[in-house]
This record gives sequence, structure tokens and C-alpha cells, in this order.
Amino acid sequence: MFEDIPVEVSPMYEGERIRAANMFVELAGPKSIGAELVQVDDSLTEEKFEVIGSELSDMNQGDIIPFGLKIAIKGEKLEQELEGVIERRTHDLCNYVQGFMHLNQRDQIWCRVSTEAKDAGFKLVHLAKAVGTLFKEEFPIIETIAVTILTKKEEVEEFVEGAKSTYSIRDARSRELSDEDVDVFYGCLMCQSFAPSHMCVVTPDRTALCGAINWFDCRASAKMDPDGAIFEIEKGEVIDEEKGEYINVNNMISQKTQGETERVFLHSVFEYPHTSCGCFEAVAFYIPELDGIGIVDRDFNGETPLGIPFSSMAGQCSGGKQVEGFTGLSLEYMRSPKFLQADGAYNRVVWLPQNIKESLKEYIPKDLYDKIPTDADATKVKEIKTYLNDHNHPILERIANQNQTDEEDEEDSVSTTSQEDTTPEYAPVMTSPEISVPASGGVRIVFKNAKIYAEKVIIKKKK
Ligand code: SF4
Repeated sequence: MFEDIPVEVSPMYEGERIRAANMFVELAGPKSIGAELVQVDDSLTEEKFEVIGSELSDMNQGDIIPFGLKIAIKGEKLEQELEGVIERRTHDLCNYVQGFMHLNQRDQIWCRVSTEAKDAGFKLVHLAKAVGTLFKEEFPIIETIAVTILTKKEEVEEFVEGAKSTYSIRDARSRELSDEDVDVFYGCLMCQSFAPSHMCVVTPDRTALCGAINWFDCRASAKMDPDGAIFEIEKGEVIDEEKGEYINVNNMISQKTQGETERVFLHSVFEYPHTSCGCFEAVAFYIPELDGIGIVDRDFNGETPLGIPFSSMAGQCSGGKQVEGFTGLSLEYMRSPKFLQADGAYNRVVWLPQNIKESLKEYIPKDLYDKIPTDADATKVKEIKTYLNDHNHPILERIANQNQTDEEDEEDSVSTTSQEDTTPEYAPVMTSPEISVPASGGVRIVFKNAKIYAEKVIIKKKK
């Protein structure tokens, strides 16, 4: 099937990582632009695989090139509602191609071609052909497919703008319903190939954390293939409406993760937050010093108030881990009236990147909008605290109540002990979703949601 493609095409290459050292070129990604889009097109008459713009043979080692992946599909049983789910498979199918790496989704894609693949004679048109063929194999309802790869800056720019409007239309649709209006939620296991203990729960109020799949997409997918990676979960009995905990969701997640995850709160970062595979558009993280929640998205390049960038945080709380105080989420979920409702919703948000805040202007309560600092106002906990004080953020009331409770607890403990407290004063040094420490006898100790305090911190420069 792939005889005329000079590299192998197989699911065994799915986990292949192409590091900078063996990269020929980078396509799209944070230093360029790009997008992928699958659309039903009934006017399609013939199969077509083409590249508009430069081919790999016209590029130089280390180039970073704009990249558009435009996929048109036609089939009697194809519905527009299936576009999002089919599009989400682009990630896996591109990664079947040896020497090609695809990360993320929609206009966040980030791809690389390895030097070995280029030297073997691999071209982008081969990618188009491989992906088109795999799509037809995976979805027999696709009768005709055309895959067009764009690498010319102006054309990619135009394509990305068009793709963004299509995503917005799909996303807006998910706001038509809320969790109370339906009897069925959906589970998605598409990311279990690299996050075996992860299952996404998709509800009308909680679009998938990759941002690419909403409740309507899942409904269409489960109807097309009830035994596929997306399946129904009867909503059933609710355990806690505020937190979003359901008996059937817990049972299903326990079954599909072999007992690794047994409980999930859909609308909280505390206790049993929704697990994260790694495809999330953003991460919500607890900031203990402020008793508040910060949000960071994958476009943010600086340091978060926890002192680590998005990439480090993502590494620590992805792979299907359930780490209290951290949860991956889609930006669309931040538009939901149920957004982290159990934690206080936007009343509890104390930091987020400026561009995210602006994009959510309509959805952040008006009286709170100016009270939430962004990276343009502050990034260190101390600076954020000053901003919150200056702008009278509602978290202050929470902190004051908490302090009062702590003082009362302290008084109680003093009155019940005559011993002098000789504990030295420790300062918080770092917070981490997970720290793994090897111990003797082949044992590894894992500290979850670790907060490290130290009497003294010594920073030494490596010689
Ligand atoms: S992030 Fe979730 S919804 Fe999106 S493809 Fe992966 S498992 Fe499915």
C-alpha cells in the first residue's frame, strides 16, 4: 500500500520523538504558523494528494516553515458533525509515518521531519498520500479524500484564518446545551496509546481538554462506530452536582483505566481532578501561597507563578496522572458556566496569561475582569499578592477567613500543649505535581502534589 513511500508507515512509529539534533525542518509550531482541518466536501470528484508551496527538497536544514494540512472528505454516510472527531485522528495517523512527528491539534500543531527521512527521499507529498490512505482505512465511510499540504506563508495564513472560524463555529455549538439537558456523556480513549491511564469525559459543559472534540462530535462518532474509541456513558446518578461527580463516570473510568483512576471530579482541581493525557490546551494549577488557581496555556512562553514554564508543568501532570491541584483543560471549558464551579470558578482565578484573559472577556464576570492579574501585571507570587490587594480580588476574603481559622487552630493547639515549639521557620521553595525519588531495593517513592519547604536554599553554579 505504501510501496512508493521511502519510509515505513506503521503504528509502531507513533511514539517517535524528533529532537532538534536530528531534525531536518520544523513545520508550524510556536515559532511559525499552521493548522489542520478536515471538512466534508460533496463537490470532491477525485482522490488528490498534493503540496502547494515548497517541498522538502527546496528547504534547508533547520528551516521553520508555515504548514497547513487541508483534508477534504466525501462519503454518503459522512456528516459535518463527524469532522471534529475525524480531524482529531490526524495526530495519530501522521505519527504512523517514520521520521515525521506531529504534536497537538487544530492551529496548535507542531511538526518535524527527521534528517534520516529526508535523506531516504521522503517528501511532503508522501505524507499527504500516507495520511489520505490511512484515513480511508480507519474510516471506511470516507469514499473519496483529498489531502493538500500548504507551505507558502500567505496561503497558510489564509488557511489558518479560515480554519479558526470553522473551529469557532464548532465550539459555539457546544454552548447550546448544558449537562442538565442530556442523559448521556461520552468517554474518549483516543489518547490511551501514549497515556494508558487516561480517559476523557466529554459533557456538554466540559469539552475535551484537547479542545478539538465536543459533546456533539462525540455523539456523531459513537453513532457511527459504537465500539470505537468514543463511547456513551449513561449519565445516571450524580454524587456531587457542584464537583461534577457521577457514579457511572467513576465506574467507567475505573474500568477503562484498569483501576488506576477510580474517581473524577469534572469541575474541580482538588481531590480527584480530571486526568490529563498531554494534549490539553491549558492547565489549571493551584497556587498554595494565594489559595488561588492559575491558568496557563501552551502558547505562554514565560514562567508561571509556580516558577516553572508550561512545558515543565505539562510534563509533570500529563500521561494520564491524576495530580491534585492540577488539571488539563480546553479553553472552551473556560467559557462554560460550570468552569471549576466547585472551586469558586473565576472568583478563585488569581493569574492567567493576558491573551487568554482577553479572549475570554465575554465569559469572565464583569466585576472580576480587572481584578485578575495577567503576566503583563505580575508573575511572581509576591507581585500577584500586591495586585490582588490593590484591586480587591475576592480571594482576599477567602485568605482572611483561612488565616482566622488557622489562628484559632493555633490558639487551640497552644492551649493544649505546654511544650515549647522548637520547629525552625521554613520557607516554601517549590510546589510540584509529582516528584519521583528512587529508593533502595528497586523501589521508587512518588510524592504527589509535593510542597517542598526548606530552612535554607543554596544555589550553586555548575563549573
Ligand atoms: S484529549 Fe481526550 S478527547 Fe481529545 S483525543 Fe485525547 S482522549 Fe480524546
